[in-house]
Amino acid sequence: MARTLRRRQAPHRPRYKGVRVGPKTLKMETLKRGQRACQCVDCPRPAAAESPFCATHTRDGCPAGSPLSGYEPPYEPELWNTDKSIQYSHNCFAYATNYIDWQKVETCRASSGCNVGFHVPGLEKGHPKFGAKVKRESNYMTCSDVVARTKASLHGVEVGFTEACPPMMSKIAIVVDDKNDLHYYRQDSNGWWSHKPGGRPVTNLDAAGVRIYNPERCSRYYPKEDPDDTGLNYKHFCCFLAIPRGTAAAFIKLAGGYAVKAKHKKRGTHKK
Ligand SMILES: [Zn+2]
Repeated sequence: MARTLRRRQAPHRPRYKGVRVGPKTLKMETLKRGQRACQCVDCPRPAAAESPFCATHTRDGCPAGSPLSGYEPPYEPELWNTDKSIQYSHNCFAYATNYIDWQKVETCRASSGCNVGFHVPGLEKGHPKFGAKVKRESNYMTCSDVVARTKASLHGVEVGFTEACPPMMSKIAIVVDDKNDLHYYRQDSNGWWSHKPGGRPVTNLDAAGVRIYNPERCSRYYPKEDPDDTGLNYKHFCCFLAIPRGTAAAFIKLAGGYAVKAKHKKRGTHKK
């Protein structure tokens, strides 16, 4: 316990190796705990303590960002976190889609322990559910699988971080902990990014506790130090997807459920 506390309280001390980084060359898997890259595009410097950016970009701002389309959803964590029946029944995928499924909220309210499955990308388009055996023996929950599922569900098109979205669309980002878990981020109307780690609250902070300017370069490693920690490491950045917002194509119906009852019980002390 003492060791854990010391590590947790220690400030971030980047041990940057000096390799060239960029959208294609940044190797998040080489970053160890305490190592964070500056989130400004192509910046080769490590991030300053408690900042998404290096000292220079913290001072001067980052000149390159993801341009806003005007169709980004607002950052409203209270919408998802205040009512625990909403929080426990919605995952990163539903949040990135900005989709509150009232049927799931009702099911959550009606059951003890919020026994309701999360939305699964691609399920309503014929992609199978995820399961431990299925994941081991196939390419499920790899980038190619999750990107294909997400494109099918959300009518998404791949875009670059600094590229403008097609009209009436906004960006989400897809990452995976290969064959283990998938995760999504979304760009909000304030230009920054937010996400919802499973049944946990919506947040605008990355795994290192700093704001997310660019999900490709933010910290996505949640080391298992306490029983509550997930140990997940979303080391594979898949892509940015522009998805429709506000048009007919955006009114989709998500389906799904991870049939993992034990997992849901861990989400918190849910009361009816
Ligand atoms: Zn920088």
